[in-house]
Amino acid sequence: MNLHFDLSLGNGYKSTSQKIRVISESWFAKNMYCPCCGNIRICHFKNNSPVADFYCENCNEQFELKSTDKKLGLKIADGAYSSAIERITSNTNPDLIVLQYKDFKVSNLSLIPKFFFTPQIIEKRNPLSPNARRAGWVGCNIIFGRIPLQGKIPIISDGKILNRDEVVKLYQKSLVLRTDSIKNRGWILDVLNCINDIKSEEFNLNDVYQYAESLKIKHPDNNNIQAKIRQQLQFLRDRNLIVFLGRGKYRKI
Ligand SMILES: [Zn+2]
Repeated sequence: MNLHFDLSLGNGYKSTSQKIRVISESWFAKNMYCPCCGNIRICHFKNNSPVADFYCENCNEQFELKSTDKKLGLKIADGAYSSAIERITSNTNPDLIVLQYKDFKVSNLSLIPKFFFTPQIIEKRNPLSPNARRAGWVGCNIIFGRIPLQGKIPIISDGKILNRDEVVKLYQKSLVLRTDSIKNRGWILDVLNCINDIKSEEFNLNDVYQYAESLKIKHPDNNNIQAKIRQQLQFLRDRNLIVFLGRGKYRKI
């Protein structure tokens, strides 16, 4: 894997964003394997597929690539708000690959499996001003910070290339969190974020109940937050992410 972009591929394109798109997509097609099954190559969809940029011919997984030279903070700018929400709720969204580069060299590459997407991580941006070329268009941000740790699978981390088998293993492990119901998915991931936020390996029910208020803000229709929390803890236990130690005590795995 060569981490440097081939800048000559951008010749002939006017806008910087177009150049980066062409260069980063070529880099990805040339250097990347399928992070889901480990297949040696990944295929580029023909120009401007509305759904995804890449697919794996072995496992049929589809990927969308987003590149940025900004620090991977809380948010990543995405396309139109309405199509982002529509895709998530119809379960046809591809996995997301986030590529961060510096000085035209890839420094970070992460896979976010599609089942980590919920409407809560999509933030609506203000409509473009009446003077803009696409006046009234509403874009969105992906709130990267709301995706739990288990859903951000590193492929390249601070310029270090991770072992392919290790990446595939992490992806396969994340599959236990897959659920097609968007409503359930939101709850599971929200409670998982709370558990990730608890500093110690062992915790008790009260530690998780501390997050009840913030969960209530995210799920205002639910009037029994504590019961809902317990239900998610059972889900996470059944999937071997936590163990019940008895008497309201738990341990992270
Ligand atoms: Zn594959």
